[in-house]
Amino acid sequence: MTKTWYADIILPLAVRGRFTYRIPDDIFEAVKPGVRVTVQFGGNKLYSGIVCTIHDNAPVLKNVKTIINVIDTVPAVNEIQLKFWLWISEYYLCSEGEVMKAALPSEICFNNYKPRLVTYIQLAGIFSDNELHEIIDKLAKAPRQQEVLSTYLRLTGYASGSEIKPIGKSWLLKETGSNPNIIEALIAKGILSSLSLVVTRLNDSDNCKEPINKLSEAQSVAYGSITTQFKEKDIILLHGVTSSGKTEIYIHLIEEQLKIGKQVLYMLPEIALTTQIILRLKRHFGAVTGVYHSRFSDCEKVEIWERVADNDPLNGYRLILGVRSSLFLPFSNLGLIIVDEEHDGSYKQHDPAPRYHARDSAIVLASMHKAKTILGSASPSVESYNNAVNGKYGFSELKERFGLIKLPAIIIADTREAYRRKLMVSHFTPELLQAMDEALGKDEQVILFQNRRGFSPYIECSDCGWIPVCIQCAVNLTYHKTISKLVCHYCGYNADMPSKCGNCHSTGMVTRGFGTEKIEDEIKIVFPAARVARMDQDTTRNKNSFNKIIRTFEDRRIDILIGTQMISKGLDFENLTVVGILNADNLLNYPDFRAHERSFQLMEQVSGRAGRRQKQGKVVIQTADPANKIIRLVLRHDYISMFRMQAEERMTFNYPPFCRMVKISIKHKERALLNYYSDILGRDLKEIFGKRVLGPESPVISKVQLWYIKTILVKIEREKPPAKAKHLIIEAIDRLEKEKGASSLKIAIDVDPY
Ligand code: ADP
Ligand code: ZN
Ligand code: ZN
Repeated sequence: MTKTWYADIILPLAVRGRFTYRIPDDIFEAVKPGVRVTVQFGGNKLYSGIVCTIHDNAPVLKNVKTIINVIDTVPAVNEIQLKFWLWISEYYLCSEGEVMKAALPSEICFNNYKPRLVTYIQLAGIFSDNELHEIIDKLAKAPRQQEVLSTYLRLTGYASGSEIKPIGKSWLLKETGSNPNIIEALIAKGILSSLSLVVTRLNDSDNCKEPINKLSEAQSVAYGSITTQFKEKDIILLHGVTSSGKTEIYIHLIEEQLKIGKQVLYMLPEIALTTQIILRLKRHFGAVTGVYHSRFSDCEKVEIWERVADNDPLNGYRLILGVRSSLFLPFSNLGLIIVDEEHDGSYKQHDPAPRYHARDSAIVLASMHKAKTILGSASPSVESYNNAVNGKYGFSELKERFGLIKLPAIIIADTREAYRRKLMVSHFTPELLQAMDEALGKDEQVILFQNRRGFSPYIECSDCGWIPVCIQCAVNLTYHKTISKLVCHYCGYNADMPSKCGNCHSTGMVTRGFGTEKIEDEIKIVFPAARVARMDQDTTRNKNSFNKIIRTFEDRRIDILIGTQMISKGLDFENLTVVGILNADNLLNYPDFRAHERSFQLMEQVSGRAGRRQKQGKVVIQTADPANKIIRLVLRHDYISMFRMQAEERMTFNYPPFCRMVKISIKHKERALLNYYSDILGRDLKEIFGKRVLGPESPVISKVQLWYIKTILVKIEREKPPAKAKHLIIEAIDRLEKEKGASSLKIAIDVDPY
């Protein structure tokens, strides 16, 4: 009797574990790790899954189903990717299927992916000058055909004996204003011929490459120390003040890797940032440079995927610039991962699973490729800096800006005092207005930062204090003036602006607080001659809107740009000299153990946009609390003191990086039942972990889309491997799920939820 073979398969489901299917004999040869196969699961549903392992251990289950067919001839996913998915699923406590869903571009598109073919026209053969003249003369009776032929010759510059060049059929038609029949006639006469060529959907011409910049002295020292440390360390933290040339250093490191035939992944936290950096990289590295983010269509994503998988030195991408999801591209030969702005919170995916941190996962991915990782920031995360201090990471520093330009001067503007003395002009302090006035007078540019979009974060009845809230979430509705609606930023629910109070029917509804829309309105009144634009989630919904705004600002066709955190990071504008932070207080008062670290980083980051080239920039920070210790540290650009202060606090109160954290969110549509079940889990976990369990408690937003939410935090000791503690947490959750009625709960686990 011959052996029966089985395959363990990952299916795109939230259920943990792999699924075993029998391999029919006739497709045995085709079933390999990494190929996609079609299988049936639960009822009659068909899924495509990824084959992981092949074995002959018959599963205990009877009626093992059979693989229906094999989709790929070559594996869609390589072995390192499978290993990486497994790591993510084990570390972040999710299923491999959830990782698969995040990792693969949409399934539909994968199957339908067709290279784009374009019709080209060329001469049907090599003709001598005489022959050509004869042909043209003969066409005198068909002047339209004659014109098409001469246009072809002109556009391709064909001369006797030279190489025949195809040109796009649509181009030829457009140039001659003729119709396809005329070209067909020339083809029928054997003068022209048509052919189909594969063209890329991704528009990247290989513009001539420029040599990379020579490093400054300070940069050379840092670069030297990085390459030396890489001999012993796999991870290096590069702490360089804003505009010190971190990007230049990355470019030198990239060049080294490409020279030895390795791939490089360059990660950024925000799509908006790719706009400028991609140009800088392509200028030096040309067509091997690709970019990857969620704004691409699924078919474009598949094409990028194919080009990363393609090891062809001409067509393959070897340098990828991307946001967190680029970790899942099919790299086979990484030499270096760069995590720029490594402190940035956008590297963490909170929802849905996999709830991974792209910086931490990048380090693991790099180690699977035996590659190096460089983390760069002007204000590193407390955990990365701590790892550098204790020697786990290598460390390198750039303390001055390129060209020895001074870091921007910080001016702290006291809003409370200005209100009291009636000096505020709408939401602007005299200090900010003066700085803006001076800059605009010299044709310099200004950025105003406000971390709230919309017109005002809430509206209120001036008689009774009633505030409209979302019907599905425990959230105040934000007023958006452009669309004249109240909008929930958590679920998207919207309603018309009420003309009367919903409680006392008074007509005295007033707007409270301010968002980017309101700042835009007001600044246009204060500086009527200035050209004003806004960059936030609402103005960047289209695929190319980031590019457009950034280009327009670069071209100096915008004087004042207002924006949310989108404009705070990494952008490099030559003529920008003044940055205004309109309300530092709502950054500082956020209830989170990282609020202070985050607001320092954000303020330092936004400030870093000012005065990057010719002269020192100016930053005005508006606050009602000018004595605030974090603001005092930003004033001196004093990262080290901020780090020490935060590290000490976290050591005292046992927070990361001195412990690990796992957050469990429990949701139920009924508040009482949520309390009941979350108490059960809380008690259960406390029996295991004691005082290291915090909660259950209501988070700041305690209801979203009709689901009430409670959270439980479990702190795990740093020193011990976390796998055991995680296992105990999973077991406790399994026990809760077995309680009567618990199936109406939604439970989410978030490892390192920060
Ligand atoms: P960072 O990444 O630290 O913010 P960048 O690499 O963007 O700094 O450098 C800031 C500016 O100075 C950029 O416009 C960059 O082109 C320029 N610059 C930095 N180093 C050099 C160098 N060695 N040669 C030429 N220009 C440089
Ligand atoms: Zn009222
Ligand atoms: Zn809502």
